[in-house]
Amino acid sequence: MSEKKDIRSLTYDKLKDAVAALGEKKFRADQIFDWLHVKKADSFDRMTNLPLGLRGRLASEYDIYEVRAVQVLKSSDGTRKYIHRLYDGNVIETVLLKYDYGNSVCISSQVGCRMGCRFCASTVDGLVRDLTAGEMAAQVYSVEADIGERVGHVVVMGSGEPLDNYDNFTDFIELITDNRGAGIGARNITASTCGLVPKIRELADRRYQITLALSLHATSDEKRKEIMPVANKYALSDIISACRYYFETTGRRITLEYSLISGFNDGPEDAGELSRIAKSLGAHVNLIPINPIEERKYRATSRNDAVLLKNKLEKNDINVTIRREMGRDIQASCGQLRRKYMESM
Ligand code: SAH
Repeated sequence: MSEKKDIRSLTYDKLKDAVAALGEKKFRADQIFDWLHVKKADSFDRMTNLPLGLRGRLASEYDIYEVRAVQVLKSSDGTRKYIHRLYDGNVIETVLLKYDYGNSVCISSQVGCRMGCRFCASTVDGLVRDLTAGEMAAQVYSVEADIGERVGHVVVMGSGEPLDNYDNFTDFIELITDNRGAGIGARNITASTCGLVPKIRELADRRYQITLALSLHATSDEKRKEIMPVANKYALSDIISACRYYFETTGRRITLEYSLISGFNDGPEDAGELSRIAKSLGAHVNLIPINPIEERKYRATSRNDAVLLKNKLEKNDINVTIRREMGRDIQASCGQLRRKYMESM
């Protein structure tokens, strides 16, 4: 357990201030940042170019929160699913996806989630706690250590709602894109949100070059409310104007995620409305056949019907992809892995 702060969570600027507050010279901040984010040190003892006294003072104020891979499932297509254990015993999932353009890691932003989407396993037990920025970065570092290769892309689409953990999430973006550390290009990062309007606007104002993905899943407020409680708080019209603001402010096209639920949101009218929304935003559409979860009764749209829907959207000049299903043989859809692991303890 730790009541001390996670030093790995400090952005370079915050680390500089923290080092100054200890009465140390600025170059110590560079050394510590390098130990944490390049050499991936997991203890202050390893920071051998720091004087012993400084190491002691750091250790009395800070910890380096542990993110330990306790289980790794490997798929024949290269996908790996990690159960990461945190310092307080909580566990989260991280997924490695191998693409022709390189390694992509899907990270979690919270332990559990309080958004309550009916089709999602991560939210079944509610929110347990926010992850620190360092715990988000350490998921990437853990995967890199496991595979011995660099990770060039990150998606924030694991458990949690990143914009519900806004300050830690934005610190994570600053950390992971920092060229003194991992230096992952902002354009290679995608964050997904269920649509927290004020935070979408705040994020836009930061002008990061990351891609914002909106979990749309239904094209009317009425329908959206049936599967996403957050729709009671924010109307689609407001979400769409916030997304337009994001696009206009950052120049980055929005991705609309649309999970296909058989007989619910995959009809011809849905295709029409989805086209209209996508066109109005100049957005890319990502169709995701829903992964059925044990706790809920939803059936995925068939591959055939998904392709029909895709064709309809393409006729309307919408840029659309059907998400490739990866790691099927290791049988663990979004969120399921963590719950299974918890039950086995
Ligand atoms: N909270 C964020 C990010 C986490 S979920 C968000 O809501 O966007 C990442 C994506 O997976 C979201 O689009 C989410 O709606 C989708 N998702 C969750 N459970 C799913 C399931 N069982 N099948 C298919 N997609 C799912």
